[in-house]
Order: sequence, then structure tokens, then C-alpha cells
Amino acid sequence: MLPQVSFVIPLYNESEVLPKLVERINKLMDTLPMSVEVVLVDDGSRDNTAELIQQLSLTDKRYHAVLLARNYGHQLALSAGLSSARGTEAIMVIDGDLQDPPELLPDFYDLYKKGYDVVYAVRKKRKEGFFKKMAYHAFYRILKSISYIDIPLDSGDFSLISRRVVDVLNKMPEESRYIRGMRTWIGFKQIGFEYERDSRAAGDSKYSFKKLLKLAHNGIFNFSEFPIKLISNLGLFAILVSLVYLVNTLVQKYIYHNVPQGFTALLFAIILFSGVQLISLGIIGEYVLRIFFQVKGRPLYIIKKKIIEAEVVD
Ligand code: UDP
Ligand code: MG
Repeated sequence: MLPQVSFVIPLYNESEVLPKLVERINKLMDTLPMSVEVVLVDDGSRDNTAELIQQLSLTDKRYHAVLLARNYGHQLALSAGLSSARGTEAIMVIDGDLQDPPELLPDFYDLYKKGYDVVYAVRKKRKEGFFKKMAYHAFYRILKSISYIDIPLDSGDFSLISRRVVDVLNKMPEESRYIRGMRTWIGFKQIGFEYERDSRAAGDSKYSFKKLLKLAHNGIFNFSEFPIKLISNLGLFAILVSLVYLVNTLVQKYIYHNVPQGFTALLFAIILFSGVQLISLGIIGEYVLRIFFQVKGRPLYIIKKKIIEAEVVD
């Protein structure tokens, strides 16, 4: 019998929190009315996370282990978990560090039963540093204002997603994945659920600044045409300004007989527009880069080993 609901949890160097996570989920599972499995994905950890989840999955049949061949990053680890999850009704996506309380499953499940395909968690409060909070706050608002889909504010990957939506996600071949955006793009009935985000139960953030920046880029360049449109508009604006300037110069020369001056202004204009051109090239490059990686058609990730119901598969 397949479970009704799957937890999918990507883990990267999380051996410190893992025992706490398992304890919380075990306690929760005893109280749940539906059958549940837990898919733990090791994203090429350098500590002993992989060994720990292998042991667990061999001794407790409710836990499964998916080991990736290297560190592919959170979004791809999550994708690997989603395609391995067997839950027939819905899949609950949470982080491994207990910032997303697994105990919200019954509340999310109620909404799922009421006909919502996606129940996404919305952070009311974040227990994180001031700078990080401000950066997140600004990013989500910028993304919302320039995106062609209506990505909900202050919500991450923490969500309960119906089987039919997960099936669509699994079929989407996008290489640069921004799952919260893809989830929104799919549609059906979606609803937010407010909660207070805890701080990490143990260890440090596994999202380096570089990884966070990559995620933000994927959000913007995969779900917005704004940067490209901005370039065209800037170009138009520059042409308009230069025409006005040209007319002004001609008037000065032929009517007032002033010789045009302003070496500094000339230099300024050249430097300014060289910068604008370089940035424009970079923006186009972001889109080209995405085409480049996509056309290669490489698999999104490689699974090294998979243990389902205490048996090694594949
Ligand atoms: N994670 C992952 N691969 C990575 C980085 C992070 O699978 O390369 C996992 C990590 O173990 C955690 C989740 O993604 O379960 C969210 O990461 P983290 O809590 O470090 O991010 P933050 O909450 O600081 O943004
Ligand atoms: Mg975290």
C-alpha cells in the first residue's frame, strides 16, 4: 500500500539537526490519521548525513533515502525528492533544519481536503538577522512587481502540494529551477497559510551567499521579461535624450553662435553608456546562458543510490 502523504526533505551537511528532525517527525507521525512516508534527500553532503539517512532508511520502513552523486543545490535536491515521493494524495515539502515546522501538516492537509492543490506557507515573522530579513523582504516585492506570474509574497518552498501538481512539476524539464515560481505557474487552487518561521534548530545556513544569489537570479530571469524590456526602453530613452541634445546644440550654434563646449559632458556620456551597454549585454547573457544549459538536455541530477522501504532500488 502506497502512503497517502510524503514528506520531502533535502539535506546538505545536516547531521547536527537530523536526530532532532527525526524525533519531531516520529512524534508527529504517531498522531496523524493518514499514512505518511519521509523521503530524505542527501545533496552530496560532506559530513555523515548520507550514512545517517541510509542507516535510518534500512531500519525504519517509513523513511527513504535518495543519495545524489554530488552537491546539486537545494532546488535540484528537492526535485529529486519530489520525483521519488510516492504519496498518492499530496507531498509536504520542508527544509531539514526545522525552520518549517512539520507539525503544520494536519492544518495543510485540511485545506488540501477542502480542494486546494497547493497550500503554501507564508512567513509572518522571520527569526533571522536584520540584513537578511530586509533583503528577502525587498527581493520578494521586486520579483512580484516585475514577474509575469503572481508569485505570492514571503513564501518559500515550504508547502503541501497535491499529487497532480507534483506530477506536472516532475514533467517540467527546466534546468534552472525556481520551484516556488514553477508551483505558482502551474495553477489550480492555491492558498497561503501564515506561520512564524523558527530559527534553525542546529548548525549554520547551508545557503551560501553565492547560492542565494543564484536562486534570486533564477527567480527573476525565469519568471520575468522585465530586464529585457528595460534594455529596449533604456535604448529608446537614450535616443530621445540625444535628439533633444542635438537640437539644443544646433540652436546654440546657429542662432546664438555659441561654440559647443563640454569635454567633461562628452566623457561622462561615453562612460555612462558604455556601462549601460555592458549591463545590457550581461542581461541578455543571463537569458542566453539559460538557453545554453537547457539545450544540452542533461539530466537535472544523478541519483547515486536510492533506498525505498528498506530496499536498495535502481
Ligand atoms: N540544502 C541542500 N543543498 C544545498 C544547500 C541547502 O539540500 O546546497 C538544504 C538544507 O540542508 C536545508 C534546506 O536546503 O534543508 C534549506 O537550506 P538552509 O536552511 O541552509 O537555508 P536558509 O534557511 O538559511 O535559507
Ligand atoms: Mg534554513
